Amino acid sequence: MAPPRIRVLEAFILAIAVAVALYWQTEPGSGADALAAASRASSELVGRRIVLLIAHPDDEVMFFGPTLQLLGRRELGNELAIVCASTGDADGLGEVRARELVASAAWFGIPAARVTVVDDAALPDAMGTVWAEAELARAVGPLLAGADTVVTFDAGGVSGHSNHRSLFAYATGAHAPPGVAVWTLESVSIVRKYSAFAGLAAARARAAAGAAGQLTAWSAVGEHRLTAAAMRHAHASQMVWFRNAWLELSRYLYINDLRQERGPK
Ligand SMILES: [Zn+2]
Repeated sequence: MAPPRIRVLEAFILAIAVAVALYWQTEPGSGADALAAASRASSELVGRRIVLLIAHPDDEVMFFGPTLQLLGRRELGNELAIVCASTGDADGLGEVRARELVASAAWFGIPAARVTVVDDAALPDAMGTVWAEAELARAVGPLLAGADTVVTFDAGGVSGHSNHRSLFAYATGAHAPPGVAVWTLESVSIVRKYSAFAGLAAARARAAAGAAGQLTAWSAVGEHRLTAAAMRHAHASQMVWFRNAWLELSRYLYINDLRQERGPK
């Protein structure tokens, strides 16, 4: 008989294999489901001009894939755009990364004309640098003028990156763009962060139930593969080996929980 420790390992591997097999049976929700979810969350998410405000090229796939795919569904009638507050030039690859963002957006049906990458000395790509709200208002504010809704990071910034957190401070602070609804992506604990699709059943239940001021976007298999493909193919300069693990294990590739921080006025 195998020692108990081996048995536990076998059971664990079997459980993972069963979970993956079950996930591969998952079908995407219908367009009517998406419309109902977005309508219950807030009429602000239907028929709107929505800007995803990110800090670096690849934030849109690393964190917001399920959101882009839900809000971009034809049935919702939204027009999606991406505004990126820096070129992601920490390693001197800013020009390359700005082009990669345009290529990535195309995977989500967002044309190049609706992707703007800000290159401003006051907004450097740097882990420990807090971007001043007044500088964001100057450099990014005019780009949000035509939007009804902004989707961005929450106070935790998913990864705690100062640039991410600065966008939350700006979007909800004294310099925030006027007349725009602000929705933010919930930062989760480190355990949940690497839980892949483990929370999918609960996420689907939340999405189906709906509630004002909340929106849960979840990805079925094909949708998850699209987000991962956008990262692999469009953001080639960022595809170091451990990113492959992120694409399979990160909850943000499968589930986004959003909440409304500010109304439209
Ligand atoms: Zn980032």
